[in-house]
Amino acid sequence: MTQSLPHFEVLPRDLSAYRTGNTGVDYVHRLDSGKPGPHVLINALTHGNEFCGMVAALHLLDTGVRPQVGTLTVSFANVQAYESFDIERPFESRQLVHNLNRVWSVAELEGAAVSPELLRARALRPVVAAADHILDLHSTSQDVQPFWVYPAFARNAQAARAIGVPAVHLVMPKGLGTGVPLIQHGRHGEADGTGVALVAECGQHFHQASADTAITVTLGFLAHFGLIEASAPGATVVPARRFELLETFLVKTPAFAFVRPLVGFETFDEGELIATDGASEIRSPCQGCTVFMPTREPIVGREAVYLTRPLAD
Ligand SMILES: [Zn+2]
Repeated sequence: MTQSLPHFEVLPRDLSAYRTGNTGVDYVHRLDSGKPGPHVLINALTHGNEFCGMVAALHLLDTGVRPQVGTLTVSFANVQAYESFDIERPFESRQLVHNLNRVWSVAELEGAAVSPELLRARALRPVVAAADHILDLHSTSQDVQPFWVYPAFARNAQAARAIGVPAVHLVMPKGLGTGVPLIQHGRHGEADGTGVALVAECGQHFHQASADTAITVTLGFLAHFGLIEASAPGATVVPARRFELLETFLVKTPAFAFVRPLVGFETFDEGELIATDGASEIRSPCQGCTVFMPTREPIVGREAVYLTRPLAD
């Protein structure tokens, strides 16, 4: 299922000038207001080809943003994968070996396995653990509307609603099912933990609109926690549409195929066939099942599709 190359509006920029920060960890920069207040982490490039976060992080650093309270940390996570970007194979620089957004369990972080992503996660661990509130900026392979992703804790939902953009929420009652994402590391993964941790999926990887959205969401996140002044409210406030993650399917065989091309947000009736994977079938578990992040090109062992159901609120 090879598809044509996407339209490129945003391409990698040279980040070498941002390598040496002031935290002792490469590509991590900390701005301390000198006043009490929350410690907020804005994290970019957990996936190496998701450029919107890079643009938002550079926006903060290059415009000289200074928190008026608390502490702001800005990090570029998987720079090694980012630097492997090849415009002929633009989806391959998502990761080098491991998915940096699935290795945040103690078992992985303290295990014996080694890969560029595991080493980077171990280096970033104190950065993530130090943050009260985390915004992890991502983008999608398909051109779909932006959405939040977060563990189904009230503290996350409340912040996402208050920030307002994106208007779509993907809520995870039981995690992703395929590993521990950065936003569920430590206390941020605990129901009785503290602190907000959200992923923002800002749109298609290479679109300027996604970079613009990432900047808007980042400034909204910082304003929500009082680190910067809130900008003037947008013209339209769209009510939140929330979806609950039911199940994550991995690609099991090279024969994996959707019944028709999917980009995300398609809906299926209960029992309706969504995909086949060798001898097994993926069928809709409920009425109105809504698909998120269908894989663009199936790779055995990686995520195939996320199945959700709409929430009444
Ligand atoms: Zn991502």
